[in-house]
Amino acid sequence: MTDQLFIRNGTILTMEADSPVIENGSLLVENGEIQTLGPNGSLALPSRARVIDAADCLVMPGLVNCHTHLPMSLFRGLADDLPLDVWLFEHIFPAEAEQINPGSVRKWARHSCEELLLSGTTCCCDGYFHGDEVAGAALETGIRIVAGQGIIDFPAPGVPDPEKNVATAVAFVRRWAGRSPRIMPSIFCHSPYTCSATTLVAAKQAARELGVLFQIHVAETKAETGNITDCGDRSVVRYLDDLGIIDDATLLVHCVWLDGSDIAIIKKRGAGVAHCAESNMKLASGIAPVPGMLEAGIRLGLGTDGSASNNNLDLFQEMDMVSKLHTVACSDPWVMAAKKVVTLATLGGARALGLDQKIGSLARGKRADIILVNLKKPHLVPVYNPFVTLVHGAKGSDVSHVIVDGRIVVEKGELTGRNRP
Ligand SMILES: [Zn+2]
Repeated sequence: MTDQLFIRNGTILTMEADSPVIENGSLLVENGEIQTLGPNGSLALPSRARVIDAADCLVMPGLVNCHTHLPMSLFRGLADDLPLDVWLFEHIFPAEAEQINPGSVRKWARHSCEELLLSGTTCCCDGYFHGDEVAGAALETGIRIVAGQGIIDFPAPGVPDPEKNVATAVAFVRRWAGRSPRIMPSIFCHSPYTCSATTLVAAKQAARELGVLFQIHVAETKAETGNITDCGDRSVVRYLDDLGIIDDATLLVHCVWLDGSDIAIIKKRGAGVAHCAESNMKLASGIAPVPGMLEAGIRLGLGTDGSASNNNLDLFQEMDMVSKLHTVACSDPWVMAAKKVVTLATLGGARALGLDQKIGSLARGKRADIILVNLKKPHLVPVYNPFVTLVHGAKGSDVSHVIVDGRIVVEKGELTGRNRP
């Protein structure tokens, strides 16, 4: 029997380039796919459809978080007000060695998936260890995920022998390939300063052969080039490009310290970029040249990074910060206008991950990853421009309904229960 969901009476933000906002709109989902959408009255209500009344709500694509480390919510607030090197090597890595195991990864990945869903994120791109537990938690909670198994050149959780780091990631991808349409396995090399050139080349080669996304932290701090053996006086992006790492199935995370030639390389290779403004601010890493990357036409989305360096997974807060950060940095109130930021958090993120054919906007034929934002809150009234309300007014807790792949996973602000695979 056809599984139908009918959302009506809402203000629909499709986030499609040529589609205006649909006031008093309706949307029909069948078997997890958006069938049609338009003004109320243009769509007939199917007799057997489940109905959601979206009066006083914005109906929009689920947010896409392009960079997370889900199990790291365990370390939220553990070490703060520190620079990246001290934070990472003196606090996070030792804490991981002590506390990270399959059980803690499963528990905290599930916790983070629930935090993401409750705050309107329907798809995330993650990189961590014990990838089976992260992917398993995502499967249970109902979120869509690009799940990256981590690679690093020293003993890591679940990978005591670094010689086996690439093989471990390959085995993870093979176990999860094709298992669920919501789970896309991936390979995540931590960084050019924790992975040798040999490891990077082998990992990228494996990702190519497997046809999966290759993720890596890049140019996060100014000091990064000095920490990379073999980099010489090249920029980090140039170094990685010389190794053949950067292509259209590569996601470069952070990209704070880029010059014009780095931006040109990323554009030429067609790689995606995950911009993590709050994490970069909190670790005093710097301000990524986002306006320049967008002007060059680079596929760019937003990420929160892990909760240990943010300290939450709420993309609404991230949108507000992204807008204000670049506005003040560029002394230009138009450079990161609200609609542009909402686009980055939805369709932009989907593009950066190579998923824009499936998700990121509300259009016929796309998978039904949809959220409803309840506007009947004192801090959201009145609404002159829905994009401004979303970026500068709304919080994750204003999300009332979340639908992933056609399934309602949050209803009236509450999780509906764990979804079966
Ligand atoms: Zn990260």
